[in-house]
Order: sequence, then C-alpha cells, then structure tokens
Amino acid sequence: MNPKIWLSSPHMGQQEFSFVKEAFDTNWIAPLGPHVNGFENDLELFTGSKYAAALSSGTAALHLALIMLGIANGDEVICQSLTFSASANPIAYLGAIPIFIDSESETWNMCPDLLETAIKDRIIKGKKPKAIIAVHIYGMPAKIEEIIAIGEKYEIPVIEDAAEALGSSVNGKAVGTFGLMGILSFNGNKIITTSGGGALISDDEKFISQSRFLATQARDAAVHYQHSQIGYNYRMSNVCAAIGCGQMQVLPERVKQRRKVYEYYLKNLSGIAGIDFLYEPDHYFSNRWLTAILVDPSKGKGVNRETLRLSLEKENIESRPLWKPMHLQPVFQNYPSYTNGVSEPLFSKGLCLPSGSNLKDEDLKRVVDTIKQHF
Ligand SMILES: *Cc1c(COP(=O)(O)O)cnc(C)c1O
Repeated sequence: MNPKIWLSSPHMGQQEFSFVKEAFDTNWIAPLGPHVNGFENDLELFTGSKYAAALSSGTAALHLALIMLGIANGDEVICQSLTFSASANPIAYLGAIPIFIDSESETWNMCPDLLETAIKDRIIKGKKPKAIIAVHIYGMPAKIEEIIAIGEKYEIPVIEDAAEALGSSVNGKAVGTFGLMGILSFNGNKIITTSGGGALISDDEKFISQSRFLATQARDAAVHYQHSQIGYNYRMSNVCAAIGCGQMQVLPERVKQRRKVYEYYLKNLSGIAGIDFLYEPDHYFSNRWLTAILVDPSKGKGVNRETLRLSLEKENIESRPLWKPMHLQPVFQNYPSYTNGVSEPLFSKGLCLPSGSNLKDEDLKRVVDTIKQHF
C-alpha cells in the first residue's frame, strides 16, 4: 500500500518544541502564562488587529462573540450556509435562530445581494437580525467590503469567521479585521495549529477584555470566588500557546507552500474539460488552505466527484466533498434560508484535494496521476 496522503495534516517547524520546552522549564503549564501573551501579540502583529484573545477553539471564540453582542433566545442571526457546522452551532447554543444565506459563485462565500434581500425580508416579517456571520471558506476571502457596507446600512454587526483564512486578505487588509470581531481556529487541520485552539480578534478593546473575563469563568474582582455572570472555561492553555508561538514563525512560509500546492493542481489539471478551480478576484489574496476542484460530469466524460473521491481513497489518498450547506443539514434544514442555487451544485461537484504544506512533489504527482487516469 502506498503511504497515506492526508487532506491537511499538522506541520511543525523547528521552534515549536523549544517554546513548549520553555513552558515546561518555567512551569507555565496553566491556562495562562507568558506564551499566551506572546501568541496573542504575534496574532495582533500578523493580522494588524489591535487586540487578540487566545481561546480554546474557534467555536468558543464565536460563541463568546455572540454572547457579547447580547444574542439570546429567539433572536435571529444571519449565517453563511456553505460552511462548516461550527459557524452555525454557537447560534443554536444560545437558543437563537440561524438564517442561512447562499453563496455567490466568484468566492463561494455569502452572496451580498441575497444578504440584503434576506435582511429586508426578516424586517418585514417583524424581526431584525442581530448579527451577521460571514465566512472566508477554504481561505478565499468573502466579498467582505460589500457585506460590511450592508451591515452598516442596516446597523447589524458583522462577525467574520476566518477560521480557515489566517493569512488571507483583501486589498492587503487581513480577513478577520473588517468586521466588529473576527474568529480564528488553530485546530489540527488548519493552516497552523496549536493542536486545538482559537482566537477572537477585534480593534475594540472591550470585546477582548470581556472575552478573556467570560473565558475564565467570569470571576469578579474579589479575593474569594465571586460571580455575577455565567462564565465559560474557554481560555487557551499556555502549552498550546507555546506551540502557536512556534507556528507563527513559519506561518508566512505555510501560506506560500499552500499556494504552491494550488498552483501545482491548477497547472496540471486545469486543462481537463470537466475540472474547474476557484480563482482569486482582483485584490483578493487567499491562503489556499484547501484547494478544491469542481468536477462537472456533463463536460468531462461523465466522471463525477464521487468517482474521483473513491479512486483517490483506493490509492490511500484522502479527499473530501465541499462542506454540505447548512440549509441542507438535517439539524438545520427547518430554519429559514435564502437560496439562489449556487451552493448546492458546489456541494455536489466540489472536491477538496490534499493541500497540506508538508506534501512532497511525489505526493502531489500521485494525486494528479490518480485523477488524470479518469480523463
Ligand atoms: C474549523 C472551523 C471552525 C471551528 O474552529 P474550531 O477551532 O475547530 O472550533 C469554525 N468555522 C470554520 C469555517 C471552520 O473551518
């Protein structure tokens, strides 16, 4: 059997272990410590966000963002439909109602026109949505300037789910810094990892200090343990942050490597009828977290996405369909959605190819050769 090729596996550099060793040597093993502060500083510098709070996951960051916006039972929150379920789950944690919005075909992210249609319709139906969760899927920035403008017009705050898009930007400005708050993830398969973790970023200091407070059980300033609010255990541990400090040193390199993976697939597969790619609009920069292809059986000898996925699997190569839109998920399908027919064919035709920054040339060649056999 050929060695396994993963979709996106952790990729450590030279420094992570020495930061972790430092954490051990100084006994900062707790969920606070100098590496947490160091990692937060690195994130601020890299994204250009004024403030960052390191948390236990991207999901936790989004949960806290919604709590701080006062989202409560019965409130409506707008969310991109084509995404990972973690973008929508925190809405449900709060008993709020997700309103799903379909994509546009240029970036595969939330369609701004449909967003405005939905807001107008929700207002007519009697409830103005309280927040908008925009996602930068697979690292490709959403039409974030348009989305922010609509948010401002209707005075609805935008939270950016940049979990997949650390290193991506529009007009040189990092995604995650356009909205009132942004969230990042350092889960094992993301562009950099702390083995598990996330962050909240914002230019508004009050959200960051409030998120740190809520993430450490909402303990009041008193010598004894006193609480006036419900708290959470959502802070990042210092050991995980130490890994993050090492990963931040190699992040620019990781972005380059992921983009090279995309270029390789583009060069070797884009000539095939029936295979298409996601391109960067002008002034958009994607970290190319995952390269996805669209497989159209009507153009390419009847070969479909699933044929390719199974034949890659047979070769011990992991690939994965695009995210199944939330408005089609059993758990969310009864919530309101505004659709335009864009995300459903993306789901049926889309396949994410191995995109890790640690893939070797021969790995990429194996993937391409396996796909080419069918055409
Ligand atoms: C990974 C991911 C998250 C959640 O991040 P975790 O750190 O795994 O909780 C949220 N949104 C999107 C789009 C993601 O891909």
